[in-house]
Amino acid sequence: MTTNSNEISTNVVVLGAGLTGLTTAHYLNKFNKKFIVLEKQTRIGGVIQSKKEDDFLTENGPNTGVVGNTTVVQLFEDLAEKCGFEVAGDNVKKRFILKNGRWESLPLGAREAIMTPLFTLKDKFRVLGEPFRPAGKNPHENLADFVKRRLGQSFLNYAIDPFIIGVYAGDPTYLIPKYALPKLYNLEQKYGSLIGGSFRKGFEKKIPEEKKVSKKVFSFEGGLSTLTKSLYASAGVENFTLGVENITVNKTEDGYKIQYTNAQKEACTIYAKNVISTIGAYALDSIFPFIDAVSMQKLNSLLYTKVIEVSVGFNTWKGCRLDGFGGLIPSIEKRDLLGILYMSSLFKNRAPEGGALLSIFMGGVKRQDLISLTDDQIRIIVDKECKELMSLDEFNPELFKIVRHNYAIPQYGVESGDRFSTIKTLETKFTGLQIGGNLRDGIGMADRIKQGKELAERIL
Ligand SMILES: Cc1cc2nc3c(=O)[nH]c(=O)nc-3n(C[C@H](O)[C@H](O)[C@H](O)COP(=O)(O)OP(=O)(O)OC[C@H]3O[C@@H](n4cnc5c(N)ncnc54)[C@H](O)[C@@H]3O)c2cc1C
Repeated sequence: MTTNSNEISTNVVVLGAGLTGLTTAHYLNKFNKKFIVLEKQTRIGGVIQSKKEDDFLTENGPNTGVVGNTTVVQLFEDLAEKCGFEVAGDNVKKRFILKNGRWESLPLGAREAIMTPLFTLKDKFRVLGEPFRPAGKNPHENLADFVKRRLGQSFLNYAIDPFIIGVYAGDPTYLIPKYALPKLYNLEQKYGSLIGGSFRKGFEKKIPEEKKVSKKVFSFEGGLSTLTKSLYASAGVENFTLGVENITVNKTEDGYKIQYTNAQKEACTIYAKNVISTIGAYALDSIFPFIDAVSMQKLNSLLYTKVIEVSVGFNTWKGCRLDGFGGLIPSIEKRDLLGILYMSSLFKNRAPEGGALLSIFMGGVKRQDLISLTDDQIRIIVDKECKELMSLDEFNPELFKIVRHNYAIPQYGVESGDRFSTIKTLETKFTGLQIGGNLRDGIGMADRIKQGKELAERIL
């Protein structure tokens, strides 16, 4: 809802127009609620940003998502006519892990698991005893200790560490399974075993919607921005105010007074019964002066990792065969890259015929320092690593683009329990306030979509 006046009323104000805020807006519109979304940037999408650059289609943030829950299934069915949903080919299952400078395939079946050089013989035998190992009792045990206890050190080094690099750009000694990987944690707590639990879960009865949760890897024709643009359109573009600055939210007797400066530098005020925040924890401090300092500290002590994303495009590819999802580099290998995604092998029209598009990641929790490297320094590293790891004789890409993320992925560490309970307390104390976004409920796109819908439903 927009108006020429600088002082208006509405039912809901949503802060942030990333994937979470857009999903909330989509459902608020569907539920016929009056709302306004306020976004700091002059564009929607948050960290999701697909770009057509000559013959390459690049992503500045996430590259792929997973159809990981029933809300994603339903939302994509809702939007099916508006955006061309793309599922990665079967080769997405082929994933590579670097060990001693060589790419090894991540095992897909029992036979490969026995033969793989990724894990030690001792740990392969140890896995046979996993279903009989007692469940852990410390809810704050970190992921590294959890995996060593259940599976062994080599599984930590060459399976879980690279997996965590791929998902969190994180460190298993920092992340707490209860908060960062609740499904994994619950397998142990509920079934007493990861292997036994996965097996038994496979036989549990599913409702038809759950059967469509496929773990398929998705993108869209035109990239992930096609999704955010479709949500923007379906939520009603007239409900969005972009390019706002200096937002503050204050309590009134029966709701909230939201003040900000619009893109024309005018002071504006909105009165709303409900406020839904979907912005990162790092940005909350100045927005909610009525939240006490101790509670605010519990929210914004969340660590966000810094990540450098480099898109490298070749008109003609002369390196190793790009058949698979890509490769992850365990931290024990001590290289400067986190991983390489073979985007042109997963989806159509990402690079010219015969060419290739790679998305390369650097930084992460263990190498936060890399964010301050200059473009030239980053190029030298990527040049050297690509020649060595991708069997390129020369490194002369037609596209070389660097994007730096200072607040890429939140790390759900031991402080998360306090953060979650603080949010609950605040939401109970301040009727109509919801503090969403990636500071709770998961970090992936599927989690954001699920939460976005739940935030809208709570308005009902
Ligand atoms: C490099 C990278 C790679 C990723 N890879 C994957 C992947 O492969 N698969 C996957 O599922 N997920 C991935 N993710 C995570 C996924 O992208 C995010 O979970 C999701 O896009 C976050 O959406 P969001 O709306 O919660 O947050 P954001 O996208 O951060 O949106 C928050 C919005 O709030 C706005 N904002 C901030 N401050 C203010 C303010 N003061 N006032 C108003 N607005 C404000 C911001 O401008 C932004 O638009 C990746 C993320 C990054 C950064």
